[in-house]
Amino acid sequence: MPLEIVQIPVLSDNYVYLAHDPATGATGVVDPAVHEPVLATLEKRGWRLSHILNTHHHPDHVGGNLALKAATGCQIVGPQADADRIPGIDVQLADGETWSLGGEEARIFDVPGHTKGHIAFWFAGSKALFCGDTLFALGCGRLFEGTPAQMWQSLSRLAALPDDTRIYCAHEYTESNARFAVTVEPGNAALNARYDAIRAARAKGQPTVPSLLGEEKATNPFLRPMSENLRATLGMMAADDVTVFAETRKRKDTFRG
Ligand code: ZN
Ligand code: FE
Repeated sequence: MPLEIVQIPVLSDNYVYLAHDPATGATGVVDPAVHEPVLATLEKRGWRLSHILNTHHHPDHVGGNLALKAATGCQIVGPQADADRIPGIDVQLADGETWSLGGEEARIFDVPGHTKGHIAFWFAGSKALFCGDTLFALGCGRLFEGTPAQMWQSLSRLAALPDDTRIYCAHEYTESNARFAVTVEPGNAALNARYDAIRAARAKGQPTVPSLLGEEKATNPFLRPMSENLRATLGMMAADDVTVFAETRKRKDTFRG
C-alpha cells in the first residue's frame, strides 16, 4: 500500500512532509525544520511519529529533530557521510542501502553537491522521491559544499528514476526558478506552458510541489545541459554537460529577476 503523504508548509518557503504507512501505522517526518506544526498535524491525523528522515544538516531541515524526538521517542535516520552534523541521529544511511518505513522500502541515494553528506529517499512503491535541497521544481540546490561535477552526477542519478516519480523537494522556489529558466531556454514550449501554470497556481496560493520527474526532465534547465537551445543561449555549443551545468548554476546564483 503506498505511503500517505501530507505536505506541511513552514517558515517562509519550506515544505515538511509526513509519510504514513497505513499497513503498519509507521509515520515518518521528512526534514522537520520546526516541531510545533509537525506535532499539530500528527495530532489532527491521529498518527504517532516513529521516524525522522533527514536529507542533510541545514538548520531548516533538522531544526525540529530534538524536540520531536523528546516528544515522541522517534528514531532519527540520516546521512552517514554527515552523521556528526545531524542532531540526535540514530541510524546512518549510505548510498545504495535500503531502509524501510514500516512496510515501505526506500532506496538511499548519496547526492552530494548542496552539502557534502546529502541523501535522497526513493520509495519506489509509492513513486515518491524525498530529495531535500538537491533537485527542486525547475531548479537545484546551491553548491555550498560540493562541485558542479558532484551535483551533476547526483542530479543525473535522480533523473534516471521513472518519469512518474513525484519530486517532494523541500522548498517552494518554483516561481523564481521559472523566471530564471525561461531566460536560459526561451525556446522550450513545455517550459513556457509550465511557467504560465506555475504563475496561476501561485497567484491562488497553491503549492507547485510535488512535481513529476518527467516534467522536470522536459523543463528544468539543471537537468538539461544537453539542450541545444540552452547551449545556444549560453554560447556553449561544444562544451561537455558538466561545464554547461556549471555555467547554468553560476548564472542562477547571480540572477536578479
Ligand atoms: Zn539546505
Ligand atoms: Fe533548505
